[in-house]
Amino acid sequence: MKKRRLFWLLLPSYWVLMAVAILVVALYAYHSMSNLYFQALEKDIRTRALLLADHVQPLMQANDLSAVDALCKRLGNDARTRFTVILPDGRVAGDSEKQPDDMEYHGDRPEIRQALGGDSGIDNRYSRTLRQEMMYVAVPLRNDRHETLCAVRAALPMTAIQAELNAMTKRVIVAAILTGMLAFAVCIVVVRRITTPLDSMGRAARLFAEGEFNHRIAAQQTMEFDQLAESLNTMSQQLNHTLSTLSEQRSEQEAVLSSMNDGVLAIDRRERVIHMNRVAGEILGVDPERMKRDLVQQAVRFANLQEFIKAVLGSQRPLSRDLSLVGQAEKQIQVNGTVLRSAEGESIGALIILRDVTQLRHLETVRSDFVANVSHELKTPITSIKGFVETLLSDDWKHEPGTRRFLEIISQQAERLNAIIDDLLTLSRLEQKEGQVMKEKSRLSGVVENAIYLCQLQAQKKHIRVEMECPADLVASINAPLVEQALVNLIINAVKYSDPDKRVVVTAREDGPWVKLSVEDEGFGIERKHLDRLFERFYRVDTARSRKLGGTGLGLSIVKHIVQAHGGTIEVESRVGHGSTFTVVLPNGALGELAANPA
Ligand code: ADP
Repeated sequence: MKKRRLFWLLLPSYWVLMAVAILVVALYAYHSMSNLYFQALEKDIRTRALLLADHVQPLMQANDLSAVDALCKRLGNDARTRFTVILPDGRVAGDSEKQPDDMEYHGDRPEIRQALGGDSGIDNRYSRTLRQEMMYVAVPLRNDRHETLCAVRAALPMTAIQAELNAMTKRVIVAAILTGMLAFAVCIVVVRRITTPLDSMGRAARLFAEGEFNHRIAAQQTMEFDQLAESLNTMSQQLNHTLSTLSEQRSEQEAVLSSMNDGVLAIDRRERVIHMNRVAGEILGVDPERMKRDLVQQAVRFANLQEFIKAVLGSQRPLSRDLSLVGQAEKQIQVNGTVLRSAEGESIGALIILRDVTQLRHLETVRSDFVANVSHELKTPITSIKGFVETLLSDDWKHEPGTRRFLEIISQQAERLNAIIDDLLTLSRLEQKEGQVMKEKSRLSGVVENAIYLCQLQAQKKHIRVEMECPADLVASINAPLVEQALVNLIINAVKYSDPDKRVVVTAREDGPWVKLSVEDEGFGIERKHLDRLFERFYRVDTARSRKLGGTGLGLSIVKHIVQAHGGTIEVESRVGHGSTFTVVLPNGALGELAANPA
């Protein structure tokens, strides 16, 4: 619909209103003036008629009709008035203009009828005798007995009044036109006073919308418009302040994100990129600025990462994974993903943190290779040392008691060194295999039984009972020899760090998509402060005691690696003086790969 300007909407209405008002006033003025004229004329004629009546009365009482006619003619001529005296029978007794005998019956004239009836009468009409418009006023003339003697009539032409009225009409029209023109001009000024401030505020609002917040609306003359202008100015200032705060926050956020060493990738629910920082762009080999609002499939060309992002979007909990991105050069990255939630807790996308760990993994490989190589190199000399010492300790040799004791110490230490080297080699092998151990469906009861059997000798030495609680049909997808080794390490520790005659319980049970294997002892327990570091290589709670008991400091580290190779976790609960429980949680194989990577 075509919009009209407020100016053209208001002005015609004002004009119409003014025109109607002026017309009404003009008509009323005209009407009042003409009434006034007519009343004045009527009064004048009546006075003349009454004056004539005073003079006619004695003549009528004397019944001198010729004197009456003569009086009419004389006074009519003097006063330039038409006078007529009419008898009750309608005959004319005297007339200023004509001979009474020539005049027709006058009793039917409206003013005469009324006067003969006792009232004064008035009429305006065209006089055929004088051939012009006349006003007639007749008054009754009574004798002492109140009998009507005659009607005395005076008349004056209305031409003077007509001329006067015409002149007045012209004056009223001219006044109305002049007032109208003035009113029209005033209307334009008034309407402009309303529309001009509105125009200027509309212009200012458009400027504010375009971001010109320095523009100010000038003070207005009317209170309401001035308040409106003031409010608009304040609104623009606040808008300016809010926008600059927002932009500052945005720049700060950008600065923080772009100076992070980790790659940050934010994705909305429809898998479009919301934000990608500089490091993420470098890792993914794309320009972050050009990827905004692009589909994640365009920004991320690596199938394994796309798959991970999909999994994060569909998951309720944070996920973590190590991925290798095969591009110009292979990159190792560690990705952590979590669902982004709105204030109402609704999922609105995902946040992916990418960390380039290529260098780190390279260093780890170098270290692991070094340890493996050193262990290999040490294995041969230690084997021959062990062999020779055993030969020297055989019954073929007769040694002094002191010499035998030294040889036995050498044998013990060589054994210890050999155990450490074996553990280090096991760890190296596990590290190399990480994430790619062969798994197959195995009955857990068999695995637990074997592990307990292997520790039986050591347990019996300390009179420790090792019990087993495991459903016979419990099956999981695992690497049975590795899980067995982990259980052996845990049971050996439970035996080692318990007083004689205690009890160790090995339990296996299913818990949703997981199987839980626990080794519970009634041993010395571990202080809370050590729990976090327990699985580090060579970390011991009591080094002397561990050494004395033949520990290498690598047992739990090996357990942790085996658990990680299965995509599981290990938990420990312990109370000093009461005992410890180590629980291994492994995926039972019913879930896919990602569930095997709990964050
Ligand atoms: P170690 O060869 O010394 O036993 P581990 O890595 O197996 O090395 O264990 C690390 C340390 O954790 C041990 O030195 C010991 O102090 C503590 N530990 C492990 N298992 C237990 C347990 N069942 N009870 C008490 N302490 C334990």
